[in-house]
Amino acid sequence: MSQPGSVEADPVVYLNGEWGPLSEARIPVLDRGFIFGDGVYEVVPLYATPGGRAPFRLAAHLARLSRSLGKIRIDNPLDDAGWRSLIARAIDANQGEGDALVYIQVTRGVAKKRGHAFPAGLTPTVFMMVTPLTFPSDASRAKGASAVTAEDKRWLHCDIKSVSLLGNVLMAQHAVEHDALETIQLRDGLLTEGSSSNVWVVKDGRLAGAPRGPRILEGIRYRLVEELAAESGVAFEERDITEAELRAADEIMISSATKEVMPITLLDGKPVGTGRPGAVYAALYEAYQRAKARELHEWSERGPGAPK
Ligand code: PMP
Repeated sequence: MSQPGSVEADPVVYLNGEWGPLSEARIPVLDRGFIFGDGVYEVVPLYATPGGRAPFRLAAHLARLSRSLGKIRIDNPLDDAGWRSLIARAIDANQGEGDALVYIQVTRGVAKKRGHAFPAGLTPTVFMMVTPLTFPSDASRAKGASAVTAEDKRWLHCDIKSVSLLGNVLMAQHAVEHDALETIQLRDGLLTEGSSSNVWVVKDGRLAGAPRGPRILEGIRYRLVEELAAESGVAFEERDITEAELRAADEIMISSATKEVMPITLLDGKPVGTGRPGAVYAALYEAYQRAKARELHEWSERGPGAPK
């Protein structure tokens, strides 16, 4: 066991029962995560609080991890209590100022030889690290971000939070090369999602998101946005959204663990609505901050065993 480290320098990470510096963590090349992308992951935001960093919506993240594992037929190596205590320990081992995230990855494990079909009885590889995170600044929120569109060419199991992220990686790079924060994908003329975010459109005060199902990853913020809309008196619809509707939206926003909700004010170089963050975004962002404050307070009172 290493001494508590600084998350900024060389974080203390968890790998298969051991704790040690990230720079020294090693996996065998026949790990099926390396050879086939045969694994799943989670990203849980951690917010700085007076009592240390606290996760947000942890129960939902653990439930999604369990669903992703189930869908690719890996037995969950830990129960929720086990995950919660590992996460609490990772937070403790990486104390520092500011916000952060916990990255969790589980792969099918290390096989004796390379072969696509998976042998029975492998022991999953479990990896966890805490890395610092800077949420979008107030200045960038006030201005909004730009996004570009592209055809969604990914497989049809986007509901699994798989480490096979090549399609998403190429779309993220596409955004960077177009000076955009995100690429918004369309499949068969319908909105799916961003390279690493869910996408929301507003028309006449009504908020809509693409249907949950195999074409998108259900973000932990999907249900949260639904809750925040209800709290804010904003009509919410889960339905197909056409490319034309996307382009005619009054507001567009994205949601993810690392961006919370973020307004998109420029789409393919054209202003979205007025070209400024809209009223529905502002209401949801405020409601998001209130939800966070409530839950982080609960965490500081109850600690890692808390139900949220
Ligand atoms: N879709 C994709 C493809 C993503 O990678 C993410 C980020 N994990 C999301 C949606 C948003 O999910 P969450 O709200 O859980 O961050």
